[in-house]
Amino acid sequence: MLIVEDDVDIALTLKRMLERQGYQVTWADTGEKGLAEIRRSPHVVLLDLGLPDMDGLDVCRQARDEGYDGGIMILTARSDELDRVVGLDYGADDYLAKPFPIAEMQARVRALARRAARTVGAGDAPAEAPAGTAPAAPAAAPTADEHALRVDVAARRTWVGRQELTLTTKEFDVLALLDAERGAVVTRERLMAEVWDENWFGSTKTLDVTMGRLRGKLEEAGATAEVVTVRGVGFRLESEPGA
Ligand code: CA
Repeated sequence: MLIVEDDVDIALTLKRMLERQGYQVTWADTGEKGLAEIRRSPHVVLLDLGLPDMDGLDVCRQARDEGYDGGIMILTARSDELDRVVGLDYGADDYLAKPFPIAEMQARVRALARRAARTVGAGDAPAEAPAGTAPAAPAAAPTADEHALRVDVAARRTWVGRQELTLTTKEFDVLALLDAERGAVVTRERLMAEVWDENWFGSTKTLDVTMGRLRGKLEEAGATAEVVTVRGVGFRLESEPGA
């Protein structure tokens, strides 16, 4: 787990608290140092926005651009910043406004860490495959459909045809839930409860942001499945006609 935070008091408080919970915690006090640590694939990054050398959002975006697929939780100093942050798409998984209730913060970090542990192969947990091993394409049955969407929940991998998608932990969880109910509506409440946290009291904008990003990735890969919004209810994953 990595804390990117320039405020020494906050950083040390967080570090001690998370270490007491059994996490191995690294601390970086600038954006540059944070990015260097992120390249070592920690499962979860707690990221402050006001850093001395960089905007935390740029750290977030750059980490995603470099292919980091672990959990990123943004820590904002002011709650009015939260709308700006959630409204824009920087690839974060979760957001907390300071000062946050410790119990809520712990629960959300735990949820993020649990999911990220299944996504990130390296870092502070044993890797499933030796580093540097190229992921093998699935021995999928040859199909006429080069763009069929396939979600492998056990391996936490997603394929469009033979192309593997890079999804964040939240994007994967949302897609896996929709895929399990393919063709049927999954309510917003259920997505929030199962993918975020049953104790989530915050904005559901984060769901819309995640959904928007997921749609973009499916579209970009030319997937023959799409996420349809069912107004006022939720979302449905549909295979396109003829797919
Ligand atoms: Ca700061």
